[in-house]
Parts: sequence; structure tokens; C-alpha cells
Amino acid sequence: MSTDSNCIFCKIAAGELPSTQVYSDEHVVVFKDISPKAPVHLLVVPRIHVVSLAELTSEHDALMAHMMRLLPKLAEEQGLTDGFRTVINTGVGGGQVVFHLHIHLLGGGELHGAGFVG
Ligand code: 5GP
Ligand code: ZN
Repeated sequence: MSTDSNCIFCKIAAGELPSTQVYSDEHVVVFKDISPKAPVHLLVVPRIHVVSLAELTSEHDALMAHMMRLLPKLAEEQGLTDGFRTVINTGVGGGQVVFHLHIHLLGGGELHGAGFVG
């Protein structure tokens, strides 16, 4: 599997760095954001190292569909019955800080308008 030994999220996915994990399967790990912006703030992270949305190819289609369909299940498990927010920051201009693709799942607070994370 393609990973990057210098990447913090690769290390978390491999269990080499600690995280508060709430879900994992063969394709993704999901853990709590270390600096939460809402009462529920999870990061959905593929096990393979993909830098960002800008690096996706058709090889990632099944993975991305899997991640998208996982989001409402995670939200329900977290008790976010009235809705949730998902955010993907892409590149420096998009406010991306960790250059391993991830989807923020936020909820449980007052989230209004378009909103931003970071
Ligand atoms: P980005 O701006 O790249 O979309 O967001 C990166 C997110 O990763 C930030 O919300 C930040 O708090 C979170 N983060 C950065 N380092 C760690 C870490 O070591 N552990 C966890 N759980 N979250 C992290
Ligand atoms: Zn990585």
C-alpha cells in the first residue's frame, strides 16, 4: 500500500502515532481532530497516502465513494441526528495544513452559513 513515511496521517493510520480512533476498516481510519472546531469533529482519512483532492485519479473512485457513504453513518453514530458539516481543504489556498487527503466531519454545535474550518 502506498504510504509516506514522513506523513503524520500515514503514521496515525499505521498506529505509529496515537489518535482517538472512532472507526477503522481496510480502506480508512477515522479519529478525533486534535483541535476540535465543534463538539463533534472527526477526520476521515484514507489509509493510502493521497495528497489532496487535486491528486485524485479514477483509481480512487471506489475509495472516495466509500468515504462519502461512510459519513452519514459516522454522523448517526455520533448522535448528529439533525445534520452535520463536511469540509475538505485542498492546497495552501484552501487552507490545507496536513497534506494527506481527509474529510472533516463536524457537528453538534451551532454551524451556520457556509462556514470555514481552520
Ligand atoms: P486541514 O487544514 O489540513 O484540512 O486540517 C488538518 C486538521 O488536522 C486540523 O483540523 C488539525 O487540528 C488536525 N490535526 C493536525 N495534526 C493532528 C494530529 O496529530 N492528530 C489529530 N488527531 N489531528 C491533527
Ligand atoms: Zn500520508
